[in-house]
Amino acid sequence: MKHLLRELPPVHELQKSDRFTDLVEKSLINESQVTKVIQGELDDLRDKLLACNLPIENGSKQTFIEYIWNNTEEKVRKFQQDRLVRVINATGTVLHTNLGRARLSEQAISHVASVAGSYSNLEYRISEGKRGSRHDILEDLLTEITGAEAAMVVNNNAAAVYLVLRALAKDKEVIVSRGQLVEIGGSFRVSSIMEESDAQLVEVGTTNKTHLYDYQNAISDNTSMILKVHTSNFKTIGFTESVSTDDLVNLKNQHPELIFYEDLGSGSLYDFKESGIGDEPVVRDVIKSGVDLVSFSGDKLLGGPQAGIIVGKKEYIQSLKKHQLARVLRVDKMTFAGLEKTLRAYLSEQAAVDELPTVRDILKTEEHILEQVNLFSSQMGELSEPYNLEIIKGSSQIGGGTMPGVELPTYLIAVKHKNSSTEELAKNLRNGKPSVVTRIKDDKVLLDFRTITEQEMPELLERFGSLVRC
Ligand SMILES: *Cc1c(COP(=O)(O)O)cnc(C)c1O
Repeated sequence: MKHLLRELPPVHELQKSDRFTDLVEKSLINESQVTKVIQGELDDLRDKLLACNLPIENGSKQTFIEYIWNNTEEKVRKFQQDRLVRVINATGTVLHTNLGRARLSEQAISHVASVAGSYSNLEYRISEGKRGSRHDILEDLLTEITGAEAAMVVNNNAAAVYLVLRALAKDKEVIVSRGQLVEIGGSFRVSSIMEESDAQLVEVGTTNKTHLYDYQNAISDNTSMILKVHTSNFKTIGFTESVSTDDLVNLKNQHPELIFYEDLGSGSLYDFKESGIGDEPVVRDVIKSGVDLVSFSGDKLLGGPQAGIIVGKKEYIQSLKKHQLARVLRVDKMTFAGLEKTLRAYLSEQAAVDELPTVRDILKTEEHILEQVNLFSSQMGELSEPYNLEIIKGSSQIGGGTMPGVELPTYLIAVKHKNSSTEELAKNLRNGKPSVVTRIKDDKVLLDFRTITEQEMPELLERFGSLVRC
C-alpha cells in the first residue's frame, strides 16, 4: 500500500482549489488555519497508508483529494458550531444537573441582558458617587425574604461551604453527624471540602443514628462549629434517627461560643410542602429556628443562576465578607442580575409561581400535562406514519440532588420508530437542532411534558417531522 503514498496531493495544490477559497470565504477561519486542518488530514492519511489501513475503497490521487476535502470541510463546520447550545429537556427532570439546572425567568433573562450590555452600579453607590461593594447589592432583598440579619452571595453553594469553614473554623473542630457526610454530584464531598478548608472534622454518631448526646460528648475547647448538612440526595429509611435543628439550636445556646451552621443544599424559598410535594425546609423557617448561618444554592429549588447564598447572623457574615476568599469566590454582575429578579419573584407567592420556571414546572399539574400531551399527539398524528405513539402515565423527578424519592405524577408520550431502533431515534433527536434529550424505558423513547414549554412544542414537532423527511 506504500506505493499509494505517491498519490497523496501536496498541500499547495489543495490550496489552489476553489474549495479552499470557498471554505475561507464562508467560514470565520483564515487561510493559515484552514491549511493547518488540511495538513493534519494529510498527515493522518499518510499514517493510515503506512499502517496499511486504507480508509476509502479505491486509493488514487483523485479519491484522496476528495477524502481530504470532505474531512476538512466537516472539521471546519464542526469548529464553527456553538459549543454551548440550547437543549429541549424532554426528560421531565426539572433540575437536570447535566442540562444546566434551573431555567431563568423572562424577567431575570432581560435583566441579565440589560446589565451585561451596559455599565452598572456593581461596585458604585450612585447617590453618593462613591465606591460601593458588590456584596451589599442583594443583601436587603435576601434578608427580607429569609428573615436573616445579613446575607452574601458567592459562586455556588460548594464555595459557600468552603468559605464558611475556612473563615470561621480553620484549625478548629467542626462536629458533623456520620449520617450527613454526604457526597453530592460525584464531585462534592463534605469530608473532602472540610479537609481542604483545614477545619478538623469530628464525626459523631453512626450512619443511621445520631443522638443529641453524641454532639454533647464531642464538644471540646477546640470546637468552633456544629455543621448540619441537609441530606439532599438520599433518604435513610428504617432504623434511623437524626437530631432536629431545634435540638441543635438548644445545644448551641448552652455554648454561646459555638457557631451552628446548616448547609441546606437546595434551600427552598417556596413552601412546596404546602402543595404536598416533599418535605424540603423553607429557608425562612430554618433562620427563625435560630440557626446562625445557612447556605444554599441559587440554581436548585430557588430557580435562579448558579450561586451560593449565605444568610444569617451579621457578625459572621461580616467576617465572611472581609475574608480574602470572598474576593476569590465572588460572582459576576450577570449572576447578580439574574438572581435579583429571581429573588424579587419571591416577594409574592403568586409571582414565584407565575414567573419562575422551576417553581412552575414542579407545581405543574397532571391535568395540564395531559392537555399538552393530547395536543402534541394530535399534531403528531399528521406525520405519525413511521411512529407508534402511546400516552402513558408515569412520574417525573425534581433532580439536582433535591427531594430524593419525590415522584411527581405526569403523562408521557412513548414513541417507537417503525424502522429504526429506539437508541437510534433518541440519538437522532439529540443530534439535531435544537437538541432534544429524552428518557428511554422499555425500548421506547419517552417524552415528559413537565419540562417542555408550550413554545418548545412546535420545535419538537418540527424535529420529528425532519426525521421523517430525512
Ligand atoms: C447541591 C449541594 C451542595 C453544592 O451546591 P452547588 O451550588 O451545586 O455548589 C452542597 N451541599 C448540599 C447539601 C447540596 O445539596
